[in-house]
Amino acid sequence: MRFDGVIIVDWSAAAKPTTGKDSIWIGQAGSGVQPPVNAPTRHAAMEVLQSRIEVARASGQRLLIGADFPFAYPQGFAKALTGREGALALWQWLAAEVQDAPDNANNRFELANRINKGFPGVGPFWGCPAHLDLPHLPAKGSARQYMPFAERRAVEAAERGTQPVWKLFTTGSVGSQALLGIPRLAKLTADLGSACAVWPFEPLEDAEIVLAEVWPSLLTKEIAELEARYPCKDAAQVDILARAIAGLPTERMAALLKPDASLELLQEEGWILGAGAVQDLRSGLGETVPELTPPRLRNDCFAMPQGVSWVPVTEALAKLDSALIPLTTTETLPVAKAGGRILAEDVFAHRSNPPRPNSAVDGYGFAREALQGEGLYTLPLAKGRAAAGQPFEGAVPAGQAIRILTGAILPDGVDTVVLEEDCATDGARVAFDGPIKARINTRKAGEDVAEGEMALPKGRCLTPPDLALLAALGVGSVSAYRPLRVGVLSTGDEIIATAGDPALHHQIHDANRPMLLELARQWGFTPVDLGHVKDDPKKIRARLDKGARDADVILTSGGASAGDEDHVSRLLRSEATLSSWRIAMKPGRPLALALWKGIPVLGLPGNPVAAFVCALVFGRPALSKMAGGPFVAPQGFTVPAAFTKRKKAGRREYLRARLNEEGHAEVFRSEGSGRISGLSWAEGLVELPDDAVDITHGMHVRFVPYGSFRL
Ligand code: AMP
Ligand code: MG
Repeated sequence: MRFDGVIIVDWSAAAKPTTGKDSIWIGQAGSGVQPPVNAPTRHAAMEVLQSRIEVARASGQRLLIGADFPFAYPQGFAKALTGREGALALWQWLAAEVQDAPDNANNRFELANRINKGFPGVGPFWGCPAHLDLPHLPAKGSARQYMPFAERRAVEAAERGTQPVWKLFTTGSVGSQALLGIPRLAKLTADLGSACAVWPFEPLEDAEIVLAEVWPSLLTKEIAELEARYPCKDAAQVDILARAIAGLPTERMAALLKPDASLELLQEEGWILGAGAVQDLRSGLGETVPELTPPRLRNDCFAMPQGVSWVPVTEALAKLDSALIPLTTTETLPVAKAGGRILAEDVFAHRSNPPRPNSAVDGYGFAREALQGEGLYTLPLAKGRAAAGQPFEGAVPAGQAIRILTGAILPDGVDTVVLEEDCATDGARVAFDGPIKARINTRKAGEDVAEGEMALPKGRCLTPPDLALLAALGVGSVSAYRPLRVGVLSTGDEIIATAGDPALHHQIHDANRPMLLELARQWGFTPVDLGHVKDDPKKIRARLDKGARDADVILTSGGASAGDEDHVSRLLRSEATLSSWRIAMKPGRPLALALWKGIPVLGLPGNPVAAFVCALVFGRPALSKMAGGPFVAPQGFTVPAAFTKRKKAGRREYLRARLNEEGHAEVFRSEGSGRISGLSWAEGLVELPDDAVDITHGMHVRFVPYGSFRL
């Protein structure tokens, strides 16, 4: 039995879309190998599986898909529930009864309650969450009585650490995953028909796709050793297990598929692939500890469709967006150190802000309902006071008031506060005018953000106010992407590497490298100076190799066109897959895109003006996406033009511009592409549309300040 590719799915029973750790992860090894991907919902996970199955089938490859939830229940359950023998009868039954919406909302607890109701006694399912009222589903396993079925399947009894399928809730439970996983796979097998078989219930010989139950904990040791290299443990599990299975020689694989158990038992209870044969499974990983493949781009990711000659800017951006993925690993770090970092997971509020109802002003608090009549009120003052950090512990009797300060938790018996400036007091009583609205001058608990609400989404680059928000919500640490390492390399025989060094008359100083390194730094990436090399293929090659080791992405400038002296593009064309994007924009030459040893190379024009504009327009969103953030678009403003210009159709144009005192856009006196002083004079770019325009004074144009490019 041979499989070309192995996919492992780490399943989740989450009731809402979830990403990051403890959500669904999918790994693939062997043919179609890919870094682990995360799916926010079960629906999304099935879409990933379907598309990968399509790819495999289109090229005649066999796939093993392993999922980490029980495929069956202890003996007797299937028959008792469905009236038919065998696990697959139960698969069909669950497929018909389980509801699981695209947003993960599902009826698993209600269904378990209903199943329990049909059996005598209490059970077999348990684990009712506290907020649900389901009379037949006990909260605790110990509450079950007259359990007609075994607690564990035979395979679970053989492998220590497994969890019984009956437990639906809390730490380590797999019961809910089975209830929500089996119906999804049942649908998949139904759709695929005879192309798909479920192990060990069906014969595998003719199946292109085989589904099998797996359990990553069989490789706990290996996973623990390598976990740090992955975004999270679940990602490590799916990748390592997929590689272990894909690495098994054919005979070993065949042996794993014939576990030491009776056929009858296998038909009913299934088996975990590799259970009882962990040494064999381990051998699939080989002797040496495998190198983690960091997230990788596909080799052909920058390919343009045949026949495309000039690409409009908008299309080039869309293509770039779809080609790129985050390329850095993640780490957990304290909120105080996370400014400027990009969140790798959605962050949820650990506590409400404010955590308790409190006073918004200094004044006097009381129960609004106890105020009698209208007009002037006089209330006796209760002893003591409530201040921020010094709560009033007792209850304020109805009809009395208490001194309260800003930020103080409202004591029991207080729901309304009058401002001290509106009161008169003699120390024993307080008097104020009506009418008084209930709850005035108070803040509700969670009125800003409630506990459990999403505070910030994955991909967010943390600002100073974000740190305040996270701290206020009780969040101590976040999972963030490590900063993207951006290598910058200059090429050209005419270039002198170091500013200020003596130069001959045919030489010029490297202007691009300091500019691009500083752009990378200001954008929150880690700049990696790859220096300058002459137009010599050997030297360029060696420096690109260094870049592939030390950086996550390489920006080159110079030598990226198609001319005789364009050594970077020549090298990338002959030794990597180069795509030269001829973008319909000015300034700009072709943008060279390639993968060097798996690392993306963005070949910018040599001309500093073009290099800068291309870095802002294409480099910034591309780097942001590779760093784990969004494919950012700069915010522009429409302002009157303080210049005239007649522009032909066909290319989008970027002019060096700034706003004059009236707030109108003026442009640099020369459009010459060698005029670096214009870049420095400018405070932004005027973006002229692809179409022809005849700009006259006062006409509206789009101005994008450098600040919109985060400079
Ligand atoms: P190239 O893209 O190599 O044809 O270069 C286009 C123009 O940009 C030429 O005039 C180069 O001398 C100039 N150039 C290339 N690299 C740099 C650099 N790092 N700094 C300043 N000018 C450069
Ligand atoms: Mg050159």
